[in-house]
Amino acid sequence: MTPQDLAFDARHIWHPYTSMTHPLPVYPLASARECTLTLAGGETLTDGMSSWWAAIHGYNHPQLNAAMTQQIDQVSHVMFGGLTHQPAVELCRRLVAITPSALECVFLADSGSVAVEVAMKMALQYWHAKGEKRQRFLTLRNGYHGDTFGAMSVCDPDNSMHSLWKGYLAENLFAPAPTCAFDAEWDEQDIVPFARLMAAHRHEIAAVILEPIVQGAGGMRIYHPEWLRRIRKMCDREGILLIADEIATGFGRTGKLFACEHAGITPDILCLGKALTGGTMTLSATLTTRPVAQTISDGEAGCFMHGPTFMGNPLACAVACASLDLLAQGDWQHQVARIEAQLRAGLQPLRAARTVADVRVLGAIGVVETHQRVNMAALQRFFVERGVWIRPFGKLIYLMPPYIIRPQELEKLISAVAEAVQCPALFSD
Ligand SMILES: *Cc1c(COP(=O)(O)O)cnc(C)c1O
Repeated sequence: MTPQDLAFDARHIWHPYTSMTHPLPVYPLASARECTLTLAGGETLTDGMSSWWAAIHGYNHPQLNAAMTQQIDQVSHVMFGGLTHQPAVELCRRLVAITPSALECVFLADSGSVAVEVAMKMALQYWHAKGEKRQRFLTLRNGYHGDTFGAMSVCDPDNSMHSLWKGYLAENLFAPAPTCAFDAEWDEQDIVPFARLMAAHRHEIAAVILEPIVQGAGGMRIYHPEWLRRIRKMCDREGILLIADEIATGFGRTGKLFACEHAGITPDILCLGKALTGGTMTLSATLTTRPVAQTISDGEAGCFMHGPTFMGNPLACAVACASLDLLAQGDWQHQVARIEAQLRAGLQPLRAARTVADVRVLGAIGVVETHQRVNMAALQRFFVERGVWIRPFGKLIYLMPPYIIRPQELEKLISAVAEAVQCPALFSD
């Protein structure tokens, strides 16, 4: 990459959540392998992000690469309307097998946000078919479900600037975020506001939508499994559907294959994405139960009203199958448990730092919440200078490395975070 390339990037290319007038610096990547990102200038960075929850097996994995190249020789893409193929059938067969038994019908889409749109649309069509006007969703504050308009309407209203979209965004119901931590003693009071909100709107609510156990991009909060059990019971009592958005938590990240397992509950609709293809291709899946699928299908439209152009992309499905093979054959449970122990040991002591408000760890997720917002560009540079790739945002510095990370690599990530929280200058923006 030449300086001209970088200048072109800054002048013409939007990166996630960036400005065209004040672009943040970006680092040119040349290649990536296992847990190492190699920049165009030759510097190497240890990856602490798994490219936003996705690259669970690390980068450039030979088995994932082989699955994609083999599939290229068959067919890279074909329309899913009126045609089907082995990679899609194989993937859906596996998804049905590894998720709770009630979830049997799969819709494949192309990104997490679309999986959430699909889940919300399923809930709306379900109630329409039942002849009830239920068009609102109940969710938790601090949630994140994607960047499209339906998904945004259930994201935290402050984080996703609902004020900006007023009059355009559906007005959904927001209960206070759980405060009872994952391993704290259950506090009966914690769920009372949620229960009241549900009771007050019980005939309007189509579905509850939430991220089970770990709230991701809306605040990296980790909450008590009893929340999920209670919500499942309340939804059952009212006939309200429960949508679990496991796009971030799915495929082992929290120490269970799916975070709902911490509470032993089955949602009516499940959204998967991110790590589905081991971080190689964009793909998502929305699963639901036979009764929900049947009700939708018997409704006025006579079908489920959605069909993306790249639905069931064979390359993405083939590599997703290979990623699920790696999980099935591999040692992810031990790897994630080892990462969890090392994150606990390394990050918990940082609570003593004056800059640090809280430390939270579950599975292969380690979060350091600071009192002040981080100076993103300065902290990013600080980390790159120390040979690590960690992308903080807001008041959050967090690690979610590939499961294959070696102890000494993880130590490097933890040390860099430990050093950063001792530098108050990085937190004044
Ligand atoms: C990332 C994420 C999404 C959106 O997925 P995209 O692939 O970015 O559209 C939705 N829900 C959760 C919980 C996520 O973490």
